[in-house]
Amino acid sequence: MLSAPELVTLRASLVKRLEALRATSETTAENRRPVELDQTSVGRLSRMDAIQVQAMALATEGRRHDEARRVEAAISRIDEGEYGYCISCDEEISAKRLGVDPVIPTCIGCASGAGR
Ligand SMILES: [Zn+2]
Repeated sequence: MLSAPELVTLRASLVKRLEALRATSETTAENRRPVELDQTSVGRLSRMDAIQVQAMALATEGRRHDEARRVEAAISRIDEGEYGYCISCDEEISAKRLGVDPVIPTCIGCASGAGR
């Protein structure tokens, strides 16, 4: 289990990660605007390009949202003193597993087990 100072450090880095995710969301918001249907503003090909760019931007944003949620959840688990315990079975999550991904919410058994 992590010591209190380690948790403080981890929390700070998670907050930073969350801020970075949100900042990226803002700076890329332009790419996710609905594509103009007005054919006069952009040609047919560039419109298709724009639609593709938008689709990719939306997919990326979706992943960013998922990650932000996971980071937020990890921060609140730290605040509640629950960090490092599996949200599913309450077992301790191995340090090695948390080292790979500190926001992982479940132990290896629950993650790889029969699913839910
Ligand atoms: Zn578990």
